[in-house]
Amino acid sequence: MNPLLDFSGLPRFDAVQPEHVAPAIRELLDENRRLVERMTGADAPTGWDAFVQPMLDAGERLSRAWGIVGHLHSVNDVPPWREAYNAMLPEVSGFYADLGQNLALFARYKALAASTEFPGLAPARRRIIENELRDFRLSGAELPEERKPRFKEIQEELSALGAKFSENVLDATNAHAEWVEDEAGLAGLPGDARAAAKAAAEKDGDVAKRAGWKFTLHAPSYIPVLQFCDNRDLRARMYRAYATRASEFGPGERDNGPLIDKILALRHEEAQMLGYASYAEVSLATKMADSPAQVTAFQRDMAAKARPFAERDVAELRDFARRHLGMDSLESWDLAWASEKLKQQRYSFSDDEVKQYFPEPRVLAGLFRVIEALFGVTLKPDAAPVWHPSVRFFRIEREGRLVGQFYLDLYARDTKRGGAWMDEAIARRRIAAGIQAPVAYLNCNFPSPIGEGAQARPATFSHDDVITLFHECGHGLHHLLTQVDELPVSGINGVEWDAVELPSQFMENFCWEWDVLSGMTAHAETGAPLPRELFDKMIAAKNFQSGLQTLRQIEFGLFDLLLHSEFVPGGGRRFLDLLGDVRREVAVLVPPEWNRFPQSFSHIFGGGYAAGYYSYKWAEVLSADAYEAFEEAAKTSGSTLDAATGARFWREILAVGGSRPALESFRAFRGREPRPDALLRHNGMALAP
Ligand SMILES: [Zn+2]
Repeated sequence: MNPLLDFSGLPRFDAVQPEHVAPAIRELLDENRRLVERMTGADAPTGWDAFVQPMLDAGERLSRAWGIVGHLHSVNDVPPWREAYNAMLPEVSGFYADLGQNLALFARYKALAASTEFPGLAPARRRIIENELRDFRLSGAELPEERKPRFKEIQEELSALGAKFSENVLDATNAHAEWVEDEAGLAGLPGDARAAAKAAAEKDGDVAKRAGWKFTLHAPSYIPVLQFCDNRDLRARMYRAYATRASEFGPGERDNGPLIDKILALRHEEAQMLGYASYAEVSLATKMADSPAQVTAFQRDMAAKARPFAERDVAELRDFARRHLGMDSLESWDLAWASEKLKQQRYSFSDDEVKQYFPEPRVLAGLFRVIEALFGVTLKPDAAPVWHPSVRFFRIEREGRLVGQFYLDLYARDTKRGGAWMDEAIARRRIAAGIQAPVAYLNCNFPSPIGEGAQARPATFSHDDVITLFHECGHGLHHLLTQVDELPVSGINGVEWDAVELPSQFMENFCWEWDVLSGMTAHAETGAPLPRELFDKMIAAKNFQSGLQTLRQIEFGLFDLLLHSEFVPGGGRRFLDLLGDVRREVAVLVPPEWNRFPQSFSHIFGGGYAAGYYSYKWAEVLSADAYEAFEEAAKTSGSTLDAATGARFWREILAVGGSRPALESFRAFRGREPRPDALLRHNGMALAP
């Protein structure tokens, strides 16, 4: 028996091998293809039970098996697993692409939506069908036959242009380097950044240059120079090179300017074909935000509120630069450097000092205590086959009954992809035998314990690591505490893109709560808890220049939104003119005229964030506002770990998943529309500056 085809319980990590992948996935693809054929043929069964349910069942088998393969590819990326994954990837992607284009299937869903059965279906089921119809429409299914070829052409051209855009950014980033021959030119730069620059120079093909230090425009090399290096000329040269990447100031074949014009024109054409006024409307069709006007107003409101604080940030920085750095004017390449000096003068503490207070066992116990107190559940160690000996497995119970289970894979390994992420192994749904409990993967890249056996010292985490762990756990809780019985809208499935970070960012707030945080600290040497004084510095440093940072994010978000809504491609104005308008409206520090930021704005031209960059702030507002309900409760109960508010958060936000619109869930939890006040307050922007 192929262990990838065993759906009786948890994934069989003790048995599954790369050679199981192709036969299992082929069999499941065949099963799904045959079923789609039957469901779209003559005499195909109709209705939820006979049509939708079998499709969901077969679809789940494929996504569960393929999910295991994808997971192993991410956490155990050794050649045999990489090959097994890559060998099947095109076929699996192809299957899903075809499914989204299957017009006969679209017709079946439309018929079901128009049938007498539809109004009587449970709301979650109606929503699944509505989402299906929406996605078919957005992929052009309702266009007249003669227009479909053009629509397809646009899609293909857009994906090629997006890929070319990202390639140009990467090539332009790689094309520039700065050399420093004299170590005196590195003053201020930390040792690890120097060592990396030295190593980069030694690897360079040009023998004459190997004696010096080489800096590139990649973030790990570029950012420390701009932030720490006292060498102003070096900063200025690197800034200019960075800010003009992939623009008309470089070689023509790497200029992203013409690509942006083409992308905007094609997106506009696509939107019009689908019956929308602008591409922003297409983007928002699957999001929580209603309209471009609403998102624009949201961003302008945030900008207006943050502006006085940003102006204060700039005034303080200029004053500091004049008094302590002897600089009367600050250029763009001085800002990060001068800010770093100011920050050090004000709140001098090192991340390493903080890190000594967060040994892993304390942090995990603290995290579990937060979850238990908030939601009235119990977390216990559990047993399951795992993919690496350091992986642990836990179960969540409520009143002795299983709610869900999760794997915890905390440590960095050579064969694991970077970053931290939550993924689903099994999603909650109702099956013949009862409720299928959800299972999640929580993956991080934290430092491992030092040494082994009795001499082993537990890993210690930075405060950022602790925040990351809480963040991913928030996604995990969204998946694990769902009470929805239908898979496509249970847990994070079907949740709008701009609302999906609500539970994760919500959980981060507890890492800034003195009562909660101090309870999970014990100094690695002395066992002493985190001193309050150090915690206060951490809070102050967190909010350092938050006004400026907010405006910077809104500058990007508003530019993106206006570019895809009010801006008319080919209408005589250039996208750079619009950028100028946005900067005059929003920015407190206006970059040089030659700054070509849009030409490397890969989020919106090479990634999936077009008319969606606002989501970062949007989700922060939601999560901060939701957290404020716990702060309000703490005024009477004495702690933000308030069980009654936790129960409401579970019921109205986590339990319902994607089964209803996120705004409805938010309103049900908070009793009103979202407001930005809590976020501003958390960022230190509550009182007049
Ligand atoms: Zn997240």
